[in-house]
Amino acid sequence: MKLIGLSGGIGSGKSTVARMFRELGATVIDADAIVHELQAKGTPLLEKMVAEFGGKILGDDGSLQRKTLGALVFRDPQALQRLNALVHPAVIQEMGKRIQAAASAGAEIVILDVPLLFEGQKRGSGSAALLPYAATVLAYVPRAIQIERTMKRDRCSADEAEQRLAAQLDIEEKKALANFAIDNSGSLAATQSQVSQVFEKLKKV
Ligand code: ATP
Repeated sequence: MKLIGLSGGIGSGKSTVARMFRELGATVIDADAIVHELQAKGTPLLEKMVAEFGGKILGDDGSLQRKTLGALVFRDPQALQRLNALVHPAVIQEMGKRIQAAASAGAEIVILDVPLLFEGQKRGSGSAALLPYAATVLAYVPRAIQIERTMKRDRCSADEAEQRLAAQLDIEEKKALANFAIDNSGSLAATQSQVSQVFEKLKKV
């Protein structure tokens, strides 16, 4: 079994590319989905987060208010570090379990869809430091298209899209770090054909 890391920048097509890999037969493990599950109402992780940041991060129904939490850590690197120290080990542990399950089920290519993979790779932290990736794949579009698609999908302003992009490593830097880059700036058919080609190459890494 081979572990492949997949990432992208905001609005660059990571989810689209992940879906195409899944359709080709890869097992895809979605780190974002794991985070959401582990932070669901009443979970031990959410309780720890409330102990650290206070009940204000919960809504009336007891579920996590991501916007409130985001605002708390957005301009406070120490708070972000405290949050990550709670969340990351739990996510990595759960990913480990799912990788094991995929291996037991005979999966050949397991793609881990991880939002800040290349940021971690650059800093030597996160899953990039902890998991033995055989290769990494980037869903790539030039910055201008990233902004345009994010604005359209999230109905946000260019300023908001720019601000969210600024919190991530520049897409061109990610491209330099990735073993494979899939250019998603054209049609979905053009992306599909690249995904198929990269999938064949991943079988040989
Ligand atoms: P994020 O990390 O911000 O959630 P993402 O990298 O997973 O985003 P997607 O959600 O796959 O990106 O794509 C962003 C938006 O662009 C979506 O609305 C998607 O439908 C659209 N999109 C993706 N690929 C293409 C394409 N080749 N042509 C046109 N639109 C596309």
